[in-house]
Amino acid sequence: MTDRDHEVVLLMGPPGAGKGTQANLLASERGLEQLSTGAMLRAHVQGGTELGKRAKIIMDSGALVSDDIIIDMVRAELDRMRPIRVLLDGFPRTTVQAEALDALLASFGAGIDSAIELVVPESELVRRLLGRAAAEGRSDDNEDTIRTRMRVYLDQTRPLLDYYAVQGKLRSVDGIGTTGEVFDRVVGALGAERA
Ligand code: ADP
Repeated sequence: MTDRDHEVVLLMGPPGAGKGTQANLLASERGLEQLSTGAMLRAHVQGGTELGKRAKIIMDSGALVSDDIIIDMVRAELDRMRPIRVLLDGFPRTTVQAEALDALLASFGAGIDSAIELVVPESELVRRLLGRAAAEGRSDDNEDTIRTRMRVYLDQTRPLLDYYAVQGKLRSVDGIGTTGEVFDRVVGALGAERA
């Protein structure tokens, strides 16, 4: 298996930027498996597992679930994938997670190809999240929690953009517009480097 068989793309951006929607589209377009740590955690909550019970309290507060738990979850998924063709959505979110991901991928002879950042101003993010709260009733989409999630993003996750920028892997994409418009930009940003 050559390195070309692997493909790892990260979708990054603040809560409400549209990562889930774009990840979904991009995964089908490029034949990648979408791995969303938020969705995995919500499945645990739904299933009433021990992990789900612990995670729900943290998620409802807007804080991050511990790195160990998240890294173990992602490792278990990557372990069963050969080649590794994955679109990671909502992971990594901390420097510890980013370094763990690099080490994990390296152990499989893989590495990150690109990190896509969806750029959306904060006023628009809050508007979208409050709209989603009304439509879907996600329990972490209330005003207080949204504020905490924004702060956690700025403090813990945003610095990671630099981590990928200095490696020449960051592609920043304007996240304002229709789903289709944003998707075209995402594909354009990726297409330039690898077919
Ligand atoms: P959003 O980015 O819209 O806030 P997610 O579905 O990605 O939504 O995450 C929801 C919550 O799940 C986060 O606020 C956090 O508590 C938890 N979570 C998801 N991914 C991670 C991660 N990589 N590390 C730590 N916590 C996470």
